[in-house]
Amino acid sequence: MNEWSLITESPEATMELAEKLGEIVKPGDVITLEGDLGAGKTSFTKGLAKGLGVKRVVKSPTFTIIKEYNGRIPLYHMDVYRMEDDTEDLGLEEYFYGEGVSVIEWPSMILAQLPEDRMIISLLHMGETSRKITIYSTGARSSELVKELSL
Ligand code: ADP
Ligand code: MG
Repeated sequence: MNEWSLITESPEATMELAEKLGEIVKPGDVITLEGDLGAGKTSFTKGLAKGLGVKRVVKSPTFTIIKEYNGRIPLYHMDVYRMEDDTEDLGLEEYFYGEGVSVIEWPSMILAQLPEDRMIISLLHMGETSRKITIYSTGARSSELVKELSL
């Protein structure tokens, strides 16, 4: 497992990192975002969307679990915070193995359904405008992505 950490000192710095990731992701890539409320998961997703060339404003999917955005490749943004249990059959596999990149906030409810090879991004609140971002890979493809992102 590859691991890479850095500290960002502003929301813009977090979004820039995410934008770089958005420029290099490929169809079928799965990224999970972990961290408390206000850690920056949605901000990260906004930056990633920008890197994909998404023109629409990305907002957290409040009334739906999944929102799809059109970019260079589709972005499937999921926020499973509201999900009650992991037995709900949402057909998530269609997204994970689909034509786009999946970004999942609060993945803990659906861990069993996630592909084994994925990029895990943890955001930790350090101060008002500083966040420690740790990026892990769990397989060959995600290792490649972490390497490319950290260059
Ligand atoms: P989450 O989706 O994890 O609940 P959000 O992205 O909605 O978090 O909110 C994060 C908040 O923290 C935003 O208001 C953002 O401007 C602020 N913030 C301050 N510093 C940072 C930073 N270094 N990285 C990301 N967000 C930051
Ligand atoms: Mg959020």
